[in-house]
Amino acid sequence: MPSSVVLQSLEPLTRQALIDRLREEDPARLEELWQAADAVRQAYVGGEVHLRGLIEISNYCIRLCAYCGLRAPNTELTRYRMSEEEILACARQAHAMGYGTVVLQAGEDPMLSREMIARLVRRIKESLPLAVTLSLGERGAEDWAAWREAGADRYLLRFETSNPHLYRKYHPPKGEERETRIEMLRRLRALGYEIGGGVMIGIPGQTYADLADDLLMFRELDLDMVGLGPFILHPRTPLADPDFRVLVPDGEQVPPNELMTYKTIALTRLLCPRANIPSTTALATLNRGQGRELGLVRGANVVMPNLTPPRYRAYYEIYPNKVCIQESAEACHACLRSRIEGLGRPIGRGQGASPNYLARTGGAGGDSSA
Ligand code: SAH
Repeated sequence: MPSSVVLQSLEPLTRQALIDRLREEDPARLEELWQAADAVRQAYVGGEVHLRGLIEISNYCIRLCAYCGLRAPNTELTRYRMSEEEILACARQAHAMGYGTVVLQAGEDPMLSREMIARLVRRIKESLPLAVTLSLGERGAEDWAAWREAGADRYLLRFETSNPHLYRKYHPPKGEERETRIEMLRRLRALGYEIGGGVMIGIPGQTYADLADDLLMFRELDLDMVGLGPFILHPRTPLADPDFRVLVPDGEQVPPNELMTYKTIALTRLLCPRANIPSTTALATLNRGQGRELGLVRGANVVMPNLTPPRYRAYYEIYPNKVCIQESAEACHACLRSRIEGLGRPIGRGQGASPNYLARTGGAGGDSSA
């Protein structure tokens, strides 16, 4: 079915329509949403599933985010920081396994200096035909400019919630910093990055109206990548204390469950048809058997196999019970490959830049190998 037909079969996605769709429980109406999202995904970004090699390069963090297990006050966590050589070895492995992109992610770690990351990006870009995505938290404009200059292609910075009250309470500012992540994403866009935002689904105090606003914000920011996953409570964070949580009236709280994640992925696909949307590890954590696959048939087109060396992996504990913390990179790769093939979808080739970014930049997205 052509996507325009499917889109016409759904009502215009106003704020109220989004709220209604997020609250939807009727199986036939849900099926209609899944089909619309899958058809739009096929029409705008095709059947390919792109693989991004995720390298969790440091779990040191200076921040106090109330949801995240890496937060500085969590003294029970063993901290690690990978060496440049270790990171390069993982990047080579990514290339050897056929991935077109590596994602370097970390807590907000000042020891990952501007110079060190710039040198690392340069070394990867000089020696391997990979797109480099950074997800290193909130850094100054000069750091971001230097890394872009060094060749970094993309930056992931989820804005976590568009509700300013929840954002400030759960994501306390650093020093005098008053710029929100929404503003930072605009700054990253201006530097020429392909930009990725996103939110957690079902964080305490998040209402259906908040989540609808998050969805509308994805469109307003014209995101190239949107990362979405359920909130998973970490016992060593402030949110483990019920008295700390923001309370909303009965029936208003978004549940942090699997179905709500699929609804959000599907609606994101309809609002941002050309974006790259991963089927995330947090989703797979809720449904180890089928979560990744169901995300991929309800709007997602990317998965992020974990390349972090197994000896570090368990320590990158943003939330508990993360999937695949033991497996080798080869095992992760084989598992994901067979899951994707099981869906009858091809594995993406090349760097897999977002068609949204390519359209905006006239195709000059640095994705020469695609
Ligand atoms: N320091 C980087 C990377 C953080 S980890 C940054 O802040 O951007 C990447 C994402 O994990 C976060 O953006 C957040 O959306 C998600 N996350 C953190 N804690 C989580 C939790 N308890 N449950 C689910 N997702 C979580």
